[in-house]
Amino acid sequence: MKPLRTMESLEVSGKRVLLRLDLNVPIKDGVVVDDTRVREAAPTVRLLAERGAIVVACSHLGRAKGKPDPALSLAPVAPVLAQHAGHPVGFVPDVAGEVAMAAVTAAQPGDVLLLENLRFEPGETANDPEFCARLARLAQVYVNDAFGTAHRAHASTAGVAQLFTARAAGPLMARELHALGTVRDNPERPFVAVVGGAKISGKLEALQALVEKADTLALVGGMANTFLLAQGHEMGTSLVERDLVDTARAILARAAERGATVILPEEVVVATSPEAPAGQVVPLGSIPADHMVLDVGPATIARIQSALAAARTVFWNGPAGVFERPPFAAGTLAIAQAMAASAAFTVVGGGESVAAVHQAGVAGQLSHVSTGGGASLEFLGGATLPGVAVLEEA
Ligand code: ADP
Ligand code: MG
Repeated sequence: MKPLRTMESLEVSGKRVLLRLDLNVPIKDGVVVDDTRVREAAPTVRLLAERGAIVVACSHLGRAKGKPDPALSLAPVAPVLAQHAGHPVGFVPDVAGEVAMAAVTAAQPGDVLLLENLRFEPGETANDPEFCARLARLAQVYVNDAFGTAHRAHASTAGVAQLFTARAAGPLMARELHALGTVRDNPERPFVAVVGGAKISGKLEALQALVEKADTLALVGGMANTFLLAQGHEMGTSLVERDLVDTARAILARAAERGATVILPEEVVVATSPEAPAGQVVPLGSIPADHMVLDVGPATIARIQSALAAARTVFWNGPAGVFERPPFAAGTLAIAQAMAASAAFTVVGGGESVAAVHQAGVAGQLSHVSTGGGASLEFLGGATLPGVAVLEEA
């Protein structure tokens, strides 16, 4: 990876700074129900304001369809951002039209403005040049601190950045890239990757990259089912991806060729459905035809725990079972706890995995909790993220 242009190197005092944030938070009846992303974004806003910038913050929210949708307005986010930043935030009910232009020109150094939902404009997801130009004229400096959308070539993440000579990554983005870059390019060994979640599809590039790098690859969750099927095991009514059996076999063959250790469940927790009040631990080969695998069993947990205890680097994506249901949460929570206890450099990524880490109460004990699920997997898979490439040194 080329060195990143970071915010510290920019002259921002008295300048208008277009700050791309990830303020894509759940809102119900006009109330922010989970403010995690706002809390994380707030220090960057405060830092820029303290440095005398006119902060012009922007974000997308939800799946707005290129036109205004009151239910997806960023208006309710402004007071929450103000509270976490400890600084007033003026909401601008416009994205990049005349109202926005008037608001940013009237603003004084140290002021913070929040623009309306970027996706109210069709040009945002289309990365339309005309929209990029309108957005760019709002500011003299560009900072992107929204890692979670960096894998998308949208106007606010890619097109607009190119129109600024003064552009850089914000601190959250820099931290993500440092942690994930360490895992991808420079892991201390032994490097243990734990990959789970529902399915292989969607994670294939990351899996193929990790099988080239990890010393130990632990495959858990629903996705392990397809690997077990590829090994000829009867999987009952488990979630499996039959069209990916050959792919699974190729990944196992590649691990063997490299001499990497693969940990696959040897016994599992099964039930007739995820709603069952309890599961039953059975060895592979004894999964009843009308039962499905919903978690890894104790012997598998123990193998993963000892791999994590000996690791120097750990990356984890994807729960080991249907952890949303208490009878099938043990494997996932045990992995979260073993990561917290490990002396390794520990990184977790992915929506549900991160939720599990919070549920286990160990988020603060990991080296890095990645907020960008899709972006982090694409990055690990070796993809050049458009929103990152544009922030690299020439
Ligand atoms: P992440 O968001 O961390 O990347 P995924 O979205 O890939 O993770 O997968 C999360 C989902 O996988 C969880 O909702 C969990 O219930 C499901 N899951 C885990 N194990 C199984 C399993 N054995 N069978 C079916 N679903 C599973
Ligand atoms: Mg998910």
